[in-house]
Amino acid sequence: MSSPLTFQPVLDRIAAEIEQTPGRGRPADYIPALAACDPRSFGMAVAELDGTVYGVGDWRQPFSTQSITKVFTLALDLAHEADELWEHVGREPSGNPFNSLVQLEYENGIPRNPFINAGALVVTDRLHTQTGDAAGTLLDFLRAESGNEHLAINEDVAASESAHGDRNAALGHFMASYGNIGNPVPALLDAYFRQCSVEASCADLALATGFLARHGIRADGSRLLTMSQAKEVNAVMLTCGTYDAAGEFAYRVGLPGKSGVGGGIIAVVPGRCTVCVWSPGLDGHGNSVAGVAALDRFTTITGLSVF
Ligand code: GLN
Repeated sequence: MSSPLTFQPVLDRIAAEIEQTPGRGRPADYIPALAACDPRSFGMAVAELDGTVYGVGDWRQPFSTQSITKVFTLALDLAHEADELWEHVGREPSGNPFNSLVQLEYENGIPRNPFINAGALVVTDRLHTQTGDAAGTLLDFLRAESGNEHLAINEDVAASESAHGDRNAALGHFMASYGNIGNPVPALLDAYFRQCSVEASCADLALATGFLARHGIRADGSRLLTMSQAKEVNAVMLTCGTYDAAGEFAYRVGLPGKSGVGGGIIAVVPGRCTVCVWSPGLDGHGNSVAGVAALDRFTTITGLSVF
């Protein structure tokens, strides 16, 4: 597509196409708050490097960010401790579901990557140690980058996550038995469940992801990550951001992306823009059905992919 590219007609066209598409998948049902979401909801936003935002549909509607936050905790922890983190978590795709335990025993309690739950728990644990409050640090960062002071943790969702959190608790205790968790596991789980329960809109998240499109530079012009660290985070998003469907996501969308079971997906076009899409109906891998379809259309229509 010739430059300058105006994103609004692209988004309008995608929303109209998605509207006609039957089959949206099913909202996550492991906690009641997510099960109650309307699978017909759909929003999409694009943020340019200078913070100009375009949107369509429910793009200003806050939703449960869930595993999308794993990108931000990873970036924040890398900003604090740099390569030390990679001693404790790998960066290979797992080929297993996001909440899987199976590989941990073979790899001595070191998770395959920071985006499966085991790896995200390690990252949150380390950020909690670095800052004293991983969820609060995350929330401050998201507020600053989005310019939205109202972003908040939904404490009801956090309590519900905790009430249904046996699998994450098992992951935490198992890794602690290998010495790969520094905080008491209950404190870590509390931080992790609160992290997952941050609510934000497509507009908020597209803006908050901007530092990855700006090669590590925050909205205020300061540097969060080195250029090479920003590349690393984008690379791990591409290979691991949509779990055991990361190959299919790269094939269809061709961008670094990160999904959450709330139905959101963020994606980065390095040097150009960020995209956030939300629709709560999920496929069997925990990725938004309409979200992946919309991103597929976005890169097809605009030609903006890393390939
Ligand atoms: N809260 C969810 C969990 O830990 C997040 C998972 C996700 O979004 N993929 O199971």
